[in-house]
Amino acid sequence: RQPIIAIDGPAGAGKSTVARQVATALGLVYLDTGAMYRAVTWLVLQAGIVIDDEQGISESGRLAIAELANQCTIELTPSQSLQSPVQVKINGTDVTQAIRTVEVTSKVSAIAALSSVREALVKQQQQWGQRGGLVAEGRDIGTHVFPHAEVKIFLNASVSERARRRQQDFQKQGQPIIDLQQLEQDIAARDWKDSNRTVSPLRKAEDAIEITTDGLTISEVTQKIIHHYQE
Ligand code: C5P
Repeated sequence: RQPIIAIDGPAGAGKSTVARQVATALGLVYLDTGAMYRAVTWLVLQAGIVIDDEQGISESGRLAIAELANQCTIELTPSQSLQSPVQVKINGTDVTQAIRTVEVTSKVSAIAALSSVREALVKQQQQWGQRGGLVAEGRDIGTHVFPHAEVKIFLNASVSERARRRQQDFQKQGQPIIDLQQLEQDIAARDWKDSNRTVSPLRKAEDAIEITTDGLTISEVTQKIIHHYQE
């Protein structure tokens, strides 16, 4: 079996860029599990199901979401260049751009906290990993999805550094700039939700190698991971 490299960590630690570079360098498939949770969130919003920040989600809403998650088809197509994102389709609709909006980003943690959604998506992720040869990126890859991954990395960075990177991403994409303080608040809020849910919370696996990426370039982080893989 080909190896699996699991890369976990909080929002904005640089997982996506680094995971894609590692996959490209080693000839492995890149799996963005966050894109799957985002796609289901998009579907839920599209269906008009209310996700209230204070009240949460109603019982009937939860049932409807479970059904959507169990019956959806998600297609991830690797892009040709490292610059353009992986194409994401859910039930045949291209949502590559739509899953990156502020609206989806602000609701995705609530959807990802539902065990019905996690069960459905983890099953799909494990199918991707059946033959190995994968760089999988997310929050629970080393702890839950692929506990036997050959290499486990936990990428971290300070909240201020992560906010700064998010702002640069928005800038590059020509999107309206959100101020740093707001971004820091959003990131801290998502960290809290992802780390405090009851099912598979964001956590470093005991056998994961932690890399703090403040002050490191993408290629330095990529090289560190490749080095651990080759060890
Ligand atoms: O990595 P990304 O920011 O795209 O992930 C979006 C959200 O999806 C995370 O904030 C988290 O709530 C959820 N997620 C998760 N488990 C994963 C990947 C993502 O709960 N393995």
